[in-house]
Amino acid sequence: MNDVLAFALLFCAIACGWWLGRRSLSSGTTTSSSPPSQYYRGLNYLLDGRPDGAVDHFISALEVNSETLETHIALGNVLRRRGEVDRAIRIHENLLARPNLSRSQMHIAHLELARDYVSAGLLDRAEQLLKDLVEESDEQRDVARQHLLELYRSEREWGRAIEVGRELLPRKSLLRSTTVPLRSGQAVAVQLAHFYCELALEMKSRGDVPGARNMLQRALESDGACARASLELGRLEGEDGNHREAIAALTGIVDQDPDFLPEAIPALRACYAALGEEAELTTYLRECLDRYPSTPLMIAVAEDVLRDEGRDAAVAFLAARLAHVPSLRGLLRLIQLQTDADLAQLSQPVQPLAMLSLLLDRLIRERPAYRCEHCGFSAKHLLWFCPGCKYWGTFRTIRSTETE
Ligand SMILES: [Zn+2]
Repeated sequence: MNDVLAFALLFCAIACGWWLGRRSLSSGTTTSSSPPSQYYRGLNYLLDGRPDGAVDHFISALEVNSETLETHIALGNVLRRRGEVDRAIRIHENLLARPNLSRSQMHIAHLELARDYVSAGLLDRAEQLLKDLVEESDEQRDVARQHLLELYRSEREWGRAIEVGRELLPRKSLLRSTTVPLRSGQAVAVQLAHFYCELALEMKSRGDVPGARNMLQRALESDGACARASLELGRLEGEDGNHREAIAALTGIVDQDPDFLPEAIPALRACYAALGEEAELTTYLRECLDRYPSTPLMIAVAEDVLRDEGRDAAVAFLAARLAHVPSLRGLLRLIQLQTDADLAQLSQPVQPLAMLSLLLDRLIRERPAYRCEHCGFSAKHLLWFCPGCKYWGTFRTIRSTETE
């Protein structure tokens, strides 16, 4: 109902605008200045719940010229946002059928039509229109490229997305530096780094290790702070037997974004184990825990204590840490260690602790562990692309005693 009301209000606003415009044009003459009958018919159609007829009458009633162009565009956009894409397409196609628009106005209408096609899922048509705009319109070129970038991203065509993205990067010039204002708001270089990572993962799955390595290095050139690129590079080198290179990439994550360090721990463990240098990793993780405390790091260090000093030391370590910073995951690990100890000693009250551990595990599994720091979208697993705000690399571990 609100939509119909908004549409009716817009329609009336257009009618008033037209009428006032006509009146000012005809001032000094005796010409009648009442709105044309198409307006009343259009309004009747709208009130009868037949917006198709209303759009037809609107199109035939409001002449297309440079003054009314914005109104046509605005109406088309309202329709597209309401999901009435076919009507938006009719409005914008009607504009393109008029010969009296200037070249730059035609380009604006083309851009809107391309956006309609994207909304309608007619991606081939949208792509062609946007490519034509990149070729022909100086004013709309970068906006068209941004839409192309989004189109290729949604189609997972990473190679093409990278090609367009590189065109959008600020030009390096001694005379001036131009930065392109982005529709999505996230820096192109940051997006490019993730496109390279996606391409690298595709290459890796096809067994093209040198190609994947090259793409990950390009990701880091595009955005030196891309922890995902270091993580994937470390995993790739580790699996390829280059343990030193892997460790160099993985330990670099702490300088890029310490929140992602826990993701690197399994790969780090595999590399240090292959080199027989587990003690060095223990020292490194302890240092990191002191500098950037987090539950996953605390649990990783507890595993080392368990391996090197035994269960009692691990329980004491966790209990001491949890006394300062309580967390559900830490508590679960503590209970699991205690249950194992009880089982080993065959002491009686194993059952209640085991039950508690099971319940706690289920409680933790049901809660989201990660949240997008840009829009708040939460997920149980780490996502590199946020489905909510379409930003890359914005998910972080939720830091609260309830969920961590
Ligand atoms: Zn988000």
